[in-house]
This record gives sequence, structure tokens and C-alpha cells, in this order.
Amino acid sequence: MQGLGFQEMAWNVLSAWLDGVLEENVLEDLVQDAFDFPVPLVGMDGGAGQVEGGRAPLLLELFHGPTLSFKDFGARFLGRMLGLLSEEPVTILVATSGDTGSAVADGCSGIPGVRVVLLYPGGGQVSPTQERQLIVERPGVTAVRVRGSFDDCQRMVKGSFSHAGLNDIRLTTANSINVGRVLPQMLYYIHAASQLGRPPLFVVPSGNLGNLTAGILACLSGMPAAGFLAAHNENDFFPRWLDDSSTRYGASKQTLSNAMDVGAPSNFERLEYLFRTTRAGSNVRAVRVSDNETVAAIQHAWHEYRYLADPHTAVGLAAVLAENSAAWMKSDTPVVVLSTAHPAKFPEIVRSATDITPEVPSQLARLDGMSSRVQDLDADGNQLAELIRFID
Ligand SMILES: *Cc1c(COP(=O)(O)O)cnc(C)c1O
Repeated sequence: MQGLGFQEMAWNVLSAWLDGVLEENVLEDLVQDAFDFPVPLVGMDGGAGQVEGGRAPLLLELFHGPTLSFKDFGARFLGRMLGLLSEEPVTILVATSGDTGSAVADGCSGIPGVRVVLLYPGGGQVSPTQERQLIVERPGVTAVRVRGSFDDCQRMVKGSFSHAGLNDIRLTTANSINVGRVLPQMLYYIHAASQLGRPPLFVVPSGNLGNLTAGILACLSGMPAAGFLAAHNENDFFPRWLDDSSTRYGASKQTLSNAMDVGAPSNFERLEYLFRTTRAGSNVRAVRVSDNETVAAIQHAWHEYRYLADPHTAVGLAAVLAENSAAWMKSDTPVVVLSTAHPAKFPEIVRSATDITPEVPSQLARLDGMSSRVQDLDADGNQLAELIRFID
């Protein structure tokens, strides 16, 4: 894969997985269209290439897509695959507390035969920037603000699949357990590894563990990697499980890295299966990072390198600084931190840590001129069913 551009590499990898599923030229068009934004691997100081001595990690910036998080990779690919492979119209239901909803809405809008209904909790439970991204008017997308919590939204989505009033409507979901999201996420790992002289250590800010699973699948498919370090916030089920496999799921806790506030990671069973049936687990470690350490990492990156990190990326940077990962930092192993979101998505947190307001990229700025539309709903499955029927 060395020397190939992202799209050419993506086509090579995906055509091996999708042999017999899509025609080669159809896949080529899909790849060109879905991954039409840059995926830079940068040094913390802004320079490209390998940082000597393994002290400063490299950042793989996955936030240059239309909704400014790595969720764009999965959502754009999934939407196009559904459009190509479903014979009947399909409605994607998605409950969101962070970045998934806007990525799915944007990535699937305007695809013939694909509609999106996205649910999010009202009452200030998503940030103003995130809400703006969720409710901007998009063809084929209905945004629903629920008078309830994120758990209510998720319950309503799950309930819809067995709701008697929706038996004749084709529903699907876009959770990160969907292989249509995991598959395209392998690509950027390969993109990074193919640019480095040695197998890297990947540091993955993690919540539902979809991103980590994608890296492990890439590794099992032949990508050289020195290992993986899953960086979690205080929702630390996975680090605890690696220490003690009898650990149980906990309730989720709110942190500064809200897209990673997951008590029961939905890809865990898949990962556990891969650990049991392959040697994948032998080079995976995990650490827990507190909110204080997250803020300190944002400050460190800014003061030492003039790099503005969002709170999720900062959990990855803090994990690199943490003591138990120090043994991994062999001087000849490149360390690649996945930069999962743009700092401008979390201006309040970044500003309070550094006094710097992140520059607003064009993907966000253009939303200001656009109209928005949102429907308010009680946390009631029957009301949601009626709404889904009505847009049908
Ligand atoms: C979703 C998300 C994560 C966590 O990814 P998982 O695949 O759920 O582990 C990390 N950072 C950001 C910005 C996200 O949106």
C-alpha cells in the first residue's frame, strides 16, 4: 500500500472484502465520493513526518470530513452501501448524544432510497455546536429532539424494531456495531502505517470500541502494528476488563469527552470474540484518563507544541503521557494518536483550558446561513412510530 493515495488504497482494501458484492467500478466511484477529504498524519508541531525519538506522538487527523469527526468515514460509506444494496427504501434510526447523529445525517442525506430519523435528548444535553450540526435542514433527514435522556432516545430506537405499527417499514440502525461502519474505519490505520518506516503503536480514544475493533481487524488482515493502546475516560470498563476479566459493565458517567461516555461498549462482545479466537489481544493495552488529565493534555499540547486538541484526542494524548504506557514508548516505535474530532466542535472546553478559541472551519461556518428544522417529541415509542409512519 506504500505510495498510494488514500482513495486508491481504500479501493484496494475494500475490493478484497467486497469481492462479488459490488462491481469494481461502482466501488471505485463510491470510494472517490465517500472519502473526498484529506486524512493528514502530522507531527504535533504541525510538520509532517516522523518525530524523532518517539517523544512527541504523531497525530492522525480524522476530523476533516463534513461533520468534523472520524464518524464521517463510517457514516458516508454505510449510507452509500445501503443506497446501492437495498432493494426497498430503508429508514435509518439513530439515537445520538454526540457525533454519530450529524455524521449519519450528513453522510446519508440525499441518497435515493435512504431516509434518516435522528433522535437526540433536548434540554442542553448536547452542546450548542453539536445541536446546530444535528438540526440543519437536510433532504431525507428528520431531526427529533426528545423530552428525555439519551437512554430514552436509545430505548425508543430499539423499541421501534418490534413496534407493531412499523411491521411493514424497513428499519435499520447506524450504531458502531454495524460492520458497514467498522470496515471503512480500517482504512485510515492502513493509510498511516503505510507512511511509516516501522510498525506504529496506535493510540485510540475509545468509547464503544468500534474504532479499536477496526484497527484490530486491519492488523489481522496484515497491517503491521506494534500494538494498540485504548484510551478511555472515566468510563473505564475496558481497562478494568483487561486487568480482571470478571469485571461487569457500569452505568455511564458524564465527562468532558462526551462521545466516549459509554458504560457498556457495544463492540465489546465482538472484540472479546476476536481476543478468544485470534492472537489479536496480545498487543492491546488500555488506560483510563481523568477529566483533570484531559485538560492537562490539552494545555500541554498547546503550550509545548501550539497544537489545539479536542477533549477526545486529548484523552489519547494523556494516555501517552500516562505512566503505564511509558514501557511502550520504545524510541524506535512511532506513536500515532488518532485525532477523532476537530477542536472547534468543543470550543467551550478548549477555551477554558487554553484561553484560545479554535478557528471555525468552513464545514461549521457554512451552517450559519442554512435553515434548521427539528420536531419535539415526548419520550414515547408510539409518538415516534407515528412520526416514522407519517414521513413514510
Ligand atoms: C465516537 C467517538 C469516539 C469513540 O469511538 P468508539 O468507536 O465509540 O470507541 C471518540 N472520539 C470521538 C470524537 C467520537 O465521536
